[in-house]
Amino acid sequence: MTLNLDVPAFDGPALCAETDPDSFFPDKGHSVAAAKKVCGGCPVKDECLQWALDRDERFGVWGGLSERERRRLHGKPTTKRARQAECGTASGYRAHKRLGEESCEACSEANRTYNREWQHRTGRRTPQAGAA
Ligand code: SF4
Ligand SMILES: [Zn+2]
Repeated sequence: MTLNLDVPAFDGPALCAETDPDSFFPDKGHSVAAAKKVCGGCPVKDECLQWALDRDERFGVWGGLSERERRRLHGKPTTKRARQAECGTASGYRAHKRLGEESCEACSEANRTYNREWQHRTGRRTPQAGAA
């Protein structure tokens, strides 16, 4: 599988960044239980799931849900969650995007900072399935 690397800007540490990313993209027929267990204790689970839904992410486990489970959720409104995000945070940045707005400078800066920290901390970017 080709990994198209992209950086989600979550507001907290993504637990999967510290584990084997392959378990989040199991080969066909393999269990997603291990990955889901990691998600279960992840502080950015809700945000991660929303991110995957927003992107219509096809492959892998995100936010504790498998591909099939996410398909069922897809299309549910995201506006309420987006509105809760505060400006000056990485969440705020994505909220602007979700609401179809231009990001404000405070949010853009928070998002850039987050992305830098993510890469610094993990030494790599988050595995994203699916060639762009
Ligand atoms: S919820 Fe998202 S960020 Fe957290 S471990 Fe699961 S896939 Fe990774
Ligand atoms: Zn903002």
